[in-house]
Amino acid sequence: MFLRKNLRPAREARKKLDLKDGLWLKCESCGEILYRRELDQSCWICPKCGFHFRVGHKTYIKLLLDEGKLEEIDRGLVSVDPLRFPKYKEKYKTSRKKTGMEEGIVSGRAEINGMPVIFAATDFAFMGGSMGSVVGEKVARAARLALAERKPFVMLTASGGGARMQEGIFSLMQMAKTSAEVGLLKQAQIPYINILTHPTMAGVMASFASLGDVIIAEPGALLGFTGPRVIEQTIGEKLPPGFQRSEFLLEHGFVDIVCSRRELRETVARILSILTEPHKEPSSQT
Ligand SMILES: [Zn+2]
Repeated sequence: MFLRKNLRPAREARKKLDLKDGLWLKCESCGEILYRRELDQSCWICPKCGFHFRVGHKTYIKLLLDEGKLEEIDRGLVSVDPLRFPKYKEKYKTSRKKTGMEEGIVSGRAEINGMPVIFAATDFAFMGGSMGSVVGEKVARAARLALAERKPFVMLTASGGGARMQEGIFSLMQMAKTSAEVGLLKQAQIPYINILTHPTMAGVMASFASLGDVIIAEPGALLGFTGPRVIEQTIGEKLPPGFQRSEFLLEHGFVDIVCSRRELRETVARILSILTEPHKEPSSQT
């Protein structure tokens, strides 16, 4: 306590210095004030409590892919606002401007530790990473390409928005479409790996994001179909601590690995090398 009291004035001064100009950030979990540049160099993980700050697809591309390089495919696909949903066009435009992305997903060819893969990532910054018809189509096309080129498909999600409500039934249809496409990978014995980051929910979680051969989650990520608040209100009961968080889902067998962002690349590479190793027939006993 003594130490904390003494640190407080210094912290306050630092806070004033800056939270405004963005040099410093407050950890959402432990409240520590952190230097943005240092966070950037440490994969955006709080050095004090290990909290994983939400990062965008560009950071994941840099962290996961060889030379931080994604050879993008299927560019130029944009939503046509099929339901003429009120204010969707404006929101869409704002998201495109804010993120510099064409849609809530990027996909393409890449390598991880020299192994060729098809990689796709949704981004929470673009309308909550929600799945409209373009996101669904790009996931489906990426899966088809993985099948055609017989390369593992690595799919990273940050899709708290689930299916995009502004596209109604067209969004919901993507759940069946993407599930069917990644299902074909299983039949062809092509590895499909899911990386779930905070938050991955609803229609995305209930389709392609939870069908991987191996499901990796970042620590503390909220992963599920309906959010805990709605479930509590519906069933009128308090949920157990940590409900729908990565660690809880690991304990209950839904997630296979909870892995720090720092070790993500190494973990994915290890899984890929195991899954793509040529099959050896057991030696026959005579
Ligand atoms: Zn922290």
